This record gives sequence, C-alpha cells and structure tokens, in this order.
Amino acid sequence: MQNPFRNIPSVNELLESPPLREMVDQVSHSVVVSGVRTFLRDFRQDVQHAASEIKVPTAAELAERIAEWIVKDETPSLRPVINATGILLHTGLGRAPLAGEAIQAMSEVAAGYASVEVDLATGERSQRVLAVENLLTQITGAEAAVVTNNNAAATLLTLTALGNGREVIVSRGQLIEIGGSYRLPDVMTASGARLHEVGTTNKTRLSDYEQAIGEETAALMNVHTSNYRVVGFTEDVATAELVALGRKYKLPVIDDIGSGALFDLSKFGINDEPIAAESIKAGADAVLFSGDKLMGGPQCGIIVGKRAVISKIAKHPMMRAMRVDKLTLAALAATLRLYRDPDTVEQTIPLLALISTPIENLRLRAGRLAPQLAECKAVATAEPIEDVTYLGGGSVPTQQIKTCCVALTPSTGSVGEFAARLRNGFPAVFGRVCQDRLLLDLRTVFPHQDAKLIAAIDVDPVAPGPQVLDSTPDTGGDV
Ligand SMILES: *Cc1c(COP(=O)(O)O)cnc(C)c1O
Repeated sequence: MQNPFRNIPSVNELLESPPLREMVDQVSHSVVVSGVRTFLRDFRQDVQHAASEIKVPTAAELAERIAEWIVKDETPSLRPVINATGILLHTGLGRAPLAGEAIQAMSEVAAGYASVEVDLATGERSQRVLAVENLLTQITGAEAAVVTNNNAAATLLTLTALGNGREVIVSRGQLIEIGGSYRLPDVMTASGARLHEVGTTNKTRLSDYEQAIGEETAALMNVHTSNYRVVGFTEDVATAELVALGRKYKLPVIDDIGSGALFDLSKFGINDEPIAAESIKAGADAVLFSGDKLMGGPQCGIIVGKRAVISKIAKHPMMRAMRVDKLTLAALAATLRLYRDPDTVEQTIPLLALISTPIENLRLRAGRLAPQLAECKAVATAEPIEDVTYLGGGSVPTQQIKTCCVALTPSTGSVGEFAARLRNGFPAVFGRVCQDRLLLDLRTVFPHQDAKLIAAIDVDPVAPGPQVLDSTPDTGGDV
C-alpha cells in the first residue's frame, strides 16, 4: 500500500496558497501557521485511524478548508447580540446594557492607573467602595454600602458574616431558585448558616417567625420571589413588621430584594418590585440587590444598610474574594450618578429607556420594519403584531409589558433552523419562536439597531459557512 501521508501537502506549500495568504492579512502570520499545523495534525490522525483509505484533497482544496476553519476558530464566541427576544433582563444575553456614561467611565480607568484604593486628599490607602458608597447612601438613604461581584456573592457573604454556625429564619414561601445554580437553601448551606424554614408555601405569619427564634438564631431573612408569585389564599409579612420583630429580639434583618429597582416602575407594567430605599426606610439592616437587573448597571451585588452590619460584612475575610475591580466600580458610579437626575434617568439608562418606550413608538417601528423584512430573501412573510413580554426569563404573569413584534416565517426550512441561522449570523440575532413564527420583539431592540437587524436577516438563506470576520463593535450608538 502506498504511504497515505505522502500526498498531504506541506505547511509551506499550504501557506503559499491564495486563501491562506489572504488570511495572513486578516489575522496574523503566526495564527495562520499554527492553524495550518493543528489542522494538518488532526487530518493526519484521521488518515491514520481511518478504516479505509482516505482520498487526500488537493493543496488548493485543503487550503480552502483550513481558511474556513481558521475563520470559525477566530470568531469570538462572546460577541454582540441583537436581543429581539423581548426579555429585558436576559441573563443569557448579559442582562442590562450599559449607559454611554458608564462605558466612558470604564474606558477612562481601563487604560491606565486609577484611584481605586487611595484617598486623593491624603494620599493614604482607603476603602475600595468609597467611590460608590456616597452615591448609594444618597440614593437609598442607607448609612453604608458595600459592593460584591453579584447578588449571589452578596447573599453568600452576608449569610456567612452574620449567620455562620447559627440559624437564619426564612419563610417557606421564599425559598427561591434563580436559574439552576442558585437555590437559596444551597447558598445558605454554602455560607455555613443553617436554614430555619417557617410557615408554609402560601402562608407565613409574624408569629411563625417569632416562635422559631431561639438561642441559635442569628438573623431573620426576607427574600423577594423574583420569578414567581404565590397567589390566592396567601399571607406574608411586610419588611417593617419583620424589622420590628428583629428589634425586639436584637436580630438583624436581611432583605434580598433581587432586581433592586431604585424607583417605582409600576407605570411601565412592572409591579411589586421592591424598591431599595423603601426597604431601608422600613428599617432592614442589610438590603441586597443586583447591579445589572432593574438598576441597569454593570454586573455586581450591592449591599446597603446599617453601618455596624455593613462593616461586619465588609471586614469578613471572604469579602476579598468577592470584591469588584476598577471597571465595575467606574461603571457603577457613572450609572448611579445618572439616577440623581430623575427627569432624564428614563432616557439615560438604556434599560429604562427600553422599558419606558411608548407602545406607539414600537408600533410605528414594527410597521416600518415589516415590509423591509418581507423583502429579504430568507423571509417568506413578515407581519407586525402586538404582544406582551416580560422582564426576565422566569416570567411573572403579574408583570406583563406591552410590546410590538415583527412575526417572520422563513422562505426555506423550519422556523427553528431559521432562528439558529440568525443566532449564528453577524451580528447574532436572538428572537423568540411562537406558533411556527419567529418573533422579533422590538421592546428590547434599540432604534439604532433597526438597520443592523435588517442587514443580519437579509443574507442568502442557503449560503454556506461563516461570512466575514465582521468585528465592528456595536457600541450602543451614542459613544
Ligand atoms: C437575581 C437574584 C439573585 C441572584 O443575583 P445575581 O446578581 O444574578 O447573582 C438573588 N436573589 C434574588 C431575589 C434575585 O432576584
């Protein structure tokens, strides 16, 4: 038998071929060389282990294949997405988009050094959180604040600092799961605190908490049921009542409010979201929330509350493992500054701009986009429709937000295949499939993205392989 490896072109021969020579201009020489080597190594292995003889492609064919493979390999798997799902706080799509001011602040501190832990007046070492603590206390009315990597970290740290080795009392109606890996009972176990459940799924009274208080009790905890509601024959305890009970027994009250709205958003259909300042006003000792949910800032966990409690949390050795970097601090401070002007905040925070867009605006855009989308080769029909959407992936039926979509049917293949093609396009587009149509929900699409949305859909439905390394970043329009 002839040596099958003899016909495989050499690395140098392949590098001389036009597709790979062009590739060197797009990426770099070393990336192409290492791509060719890796591809050839895998190919030799395939030849060696093949049951029957493999016909070795010509150098030109092989070069084409390698070039395509390098493009795929070089395309970052983390890239911008047009979110046409209608889900405003889509954890899979990175939650809140940042304000231009926050992006600007991040880029200013990113390139060089920054006063992360120094007091500019004295030159002395200072606390990392000072940059945002003043803003957080002004906005929420709290005495002190500390910032962690996310709300899961805030919860874990708070429970460890206040409850390790002892009991924390929580209602059975509030033992939440937020996505598979965050379950309150498991977080409690990881913190070293023991969960003491009280009441029932639908009814928990103040007396249930009081009867559970004993020698071992370290804290009382209230948890917002962000992604479900218990409705019907129900009863729960207001934060202020829990605080009064805590005072009586000298126990701190932890309030995990989840999304962390900084003001009332019920006029936009977002009801029953606890507001940080109200929980502080009710007297909670530690109020926990996410920075990248309703607040519309960077991913982080925020703990505001009484100085003594916050200081205990901030001094815990675990704090260091959960702290945020200068980029997050810069983005958070810039986001919070926008809240100081209530007249403009609904426009300056992108998440709030999306939430507050009047339905008439969406209707006009859907009406304009539908005929343009219907022209696209990949699209058979495009129809503007009215619908409802939700804040988060775990939809709460009490929080319906009115929206408008363009409903598409593909010209070829199933709607699932169509959706997959758009997810893999440039830019990637995520819609939602509903009754054999792909809905592009404009509630979560910024107006400046409309042209890009059409361009992403207006591609040949049968063209094979990836298109180009289009890495023009979607900056959010105004930066
Ligand atoms: C979202 C949420 C969390 C987790 O917050 P992350 O910022 O995602 O870590 C915890 N508790 C509640 C009530 C939530 O809604």
